[in-house]
Amino acid sequence: MAPTAQKVKLIGSEFDQDIEFIDKSHKLDDGEHDISDERKSESNIDLAKYEAMKFTPRIRWPDLIVQVTLHLVTIYGIYLILIGEVMFFTIVFVFATIYTSGLGITAGVHRLWSHRSYRATLPLRILLAILFTVTGQRDIYTWALDHRVHHKYTETVADPHDVRRGFWFAHVGWLVLTPHPAVENRRAALKKTSVDLIDDPVVRYQKLFFIPLFLLLNVLIPVGIPMYFWGETLKNSFVVSFVTRFTVTLNIAFSVNSFAHLYGNKPYDRFIKPAENPMVSLAALGEGWHNYHHVFPWDYRTSELGRLNFSTKVIDAFARIGWAYDLKAATTTMIVKRSNRNGDGTYGDVEQSEPVNIFK
Ligand SMILES: [Zn+2]
Ligand SMILES: [Zn+2]
Repeated sequence: MAPTAQKVKLIGSEFDQDIEFIDKSHKLDDGEHDISDERKSESNIDLAKYEAMKFTPRIRWPDLIVQVTLHLVTIYGIYLILIGEVMFFTIVFVFATIYTSGLGITAGVHRLWSHRSYRATLPLRILLAILFTVTGQRDIYTWALDHRVHHKYTETVADPHDVRRGFWFAHVGWLVLTPHPAVENRRAALKKTSVDLIDDPVVRYQKLFFIPLFLLLNVLIPVGIPMYFWGETLKNSFVVSFVTRFTVTLNIAFSVNSFAHLYGNKPYDRFIKPAENPMVSLAALGEGWHNYHHVFPWDYRTSELGRLNFSTKVIDAFARIGWAYDLKAATTTMIVKRSNRNGDGTYGDVEQSEPVNIFK
């Protein structure tokens, strides 16, 4: 039986918006699990063989040195802020940049490119690509590909940041160690099925010009603005507006892979590690509702309504002006069914998710 999809027109006072509510409850009725169902279709990898393999990762020294340097300079940046050395406007600018550029990760490389949970017009894709590049977190293609591998093989040896290897491995260790052969195998396999990414010219050009774009958007402009507009010193601007901002943003993103994969309740599926973590959601613009997200990764909201989720509000705002469209969301029936079946019993203190007007 095919998934049922229902287009619901949400009528607001000033605009109409279509959201496609999708119900795949039949899979639950059949006793199938979404994630294991996907894995079954992947017949070209023997995960058990890879799980049994003896593997000792090596340190990738250049990456380790970069991470250690970034974090040491960040400690110095925080010290400069605490002793009052840094101008107030610079601190406000850094804070605002962290949270504006963060949308390039949440609404951009995550919900749009990795999960295709909605579609975006060219101007919105360009805007999200620029914001994502400001965060400096590699190119869209590499990030989205790794994220797809993470979702498809969560908590297996093929998961790039497999949380079974511990908090620190999931947080940052995976970026400074050589990947497990199973991860490399799946990265190569998903490259073949992720042609949609490279078909997008925005993704292609951002990848092609990543280094000059990184230097311009993550270094030169953030360092230049505080110096030019309010006379911040080069040293302070470089340390706080480049290194500290960059490292803080990295750690917020890392927290989704570490904290939100270890700490929190599991209203939708108690058999997986991803959990509902309000603190991560607060820091990461709504990305900490990770139990929900791993159960319904194709839902543009990454959480039920009523949850703190700034990125969803932003996507909704772009939907109002027609820049975001084909928003996909799970039906309440499907969510409740899944919670009753697999949840840890904490489901219930959330609002109804459809079909209410989410824009009022
Ligand atoms: Zn995850
Ligand atoms: Zn995801």
